[in-house]
Amino acid sequence: MIYKRSSELFAEAEKVIPGGVNSPVRAFKAVGGTPIFVKSAKGAYLYDEDGNRLIDYINSWGPMILGHAYEPVVEAVIEKAKLGTSFGMPTELETQIAALAVSMVPNIDKIRFVNSGTEACMSAVRLARGFTKRDKIIKFAGCYHGHSDSFLIQAGSGAVTFGTPNSPGVTAGTAKDTLLAKYNDLENVATLIEANKNEIAAIIVEPVAGNMGCIPPAKGFLEGLRELCTANGILLIFDEVMTGFRLARGGVQELFNINADIVCFGKVIGGGLPVGAFAARAEIMNYLAPLGPVYQAGTLSGNPLAMAAGLAMLQALDTDRAIFKRLEEKTAYLGAGIERVLKANNVVFTINRIGSMISVHFDANPVTDFKSAAAGDNETFKKFFHGLVAEGIYIAPSAYETWFITDALTYEDLDFTIQAIDKVSKTF
Ligand SMILES: *Cc1c(COP(=O)(O)O)cnc(C)c1O
Repeated sequence: MIYKRSSELFAEAEKVIPGGVNSPVRAFKAVGGTPIFVKSAKGAYLYDEDGNRLIDYINSWGPMILGHAYEPVVEAVIEKAKLGTSFGMPTELETQIAALAVSMVPNIDKIRFVNSGTEACMSAVRLARGFTKRDKIIKFAGCYHGHSDSFLIQAGSGAVTFGTPNSPGVTAGTAKDTLLAKYNDLENVATLIEANKNEIAAIIVEPVAGNMGCIPPAKGFLEGLRELCTANGILLIFDEVMTGFRLARGGVQELFNINADIVCFGKVIGGGLPVGAFAARAEIMNYLAPLGPVYQAGTLSGNPLAMAAGLAMLQALDTDRAIFKRLEEKTAYLGAGIERVLKANNVVFTINRIGSMISVHFDANPVTDFKSAAAGDNETFKKFFHGLVAEGIYIAPSAYETWFITDALTYEDLDFTIQAIDKVSKTF
């Protein structure tokens, strides 16, 4: 494949945008080479500026669960845009999407919309601190909750790819209120709680981790967190920015039948437009301004185009009850195919998979936390990544990322991908 035009565009971009990208994960720092510039996308495919077609396994890092340029979403945005693109006043549309989200997700009464997953997590923590009148939070190494200051402590994916787990610019004062725990290690969490009695406002967790590859929770881990939180007056925050409206209609709370106190959303909930949200039972949500003392706001929050896209997306997921099963079957088929060809080619690997999330790690040991995720062989990953691009398949340019399966993928696409992986893994 030829990447002449992408290279030229990247050179131009680098002059006026730091690193040529508006989010570091888009750069090819971990794999080398030049980022591919996209011209358009439809269904399961990306079309780049050089005229290549790529099967897309990133899907805008999660949102495009029904494929690119999904017709009802596109139509909704076009129709709304004609009526004005932002008002800074309430619209009926906001209530419609809020009511639908509340009906789909267990254990929430109210939801507030923001503009990104980062904002959702940041606001959820502020709310938890205000509600509990405590300062500290516990987060897990390798979990990513957006780029706000309190979370940039061993933050997974992008932050790890670039070797800056603790970003300069985050003050020591902020960092000291974030306690770091090991994913899937309840004992570690219990010890931290014991050492900080009555000081911890919240535990924030990706209930299925997706930013150090895909790491499902160990049996009993989420249940254990729930018990520890309840016993110690701590709020449990599920960051479902990646898993919400993806792993089940009601997210991980529904999938594993565990109640969180606050849930964060992003990605799928916006249908590809900039949307985040956080939700909880009324008692907690009523703590927010203008009802309560915790301040949180946004000029473009609940933006009509974003809400129209999100509503069309949620309606599609709410109507088609077979979708999550179909996605899981496609992902299982892909996983089994990859396993078969990698084994045949004597590659050392581990595959993690749940629902429509899957990750391939080039290491023989089980990948259950940040440390084991980091043990993968990055040199092999680089060959894997560039080999797949050459075959017309696009996965994230970092070994720490999950692949997202979309409903637009056909079994032919999956077979094509498995054959390409067979071919590429012969060259390792
Ligand atoms: C993507 C992501 C975020 C951040 O969302 P943005 O919209 O990129 O700010 C937060 N938490 C998780 C689990 C994510 O995957």
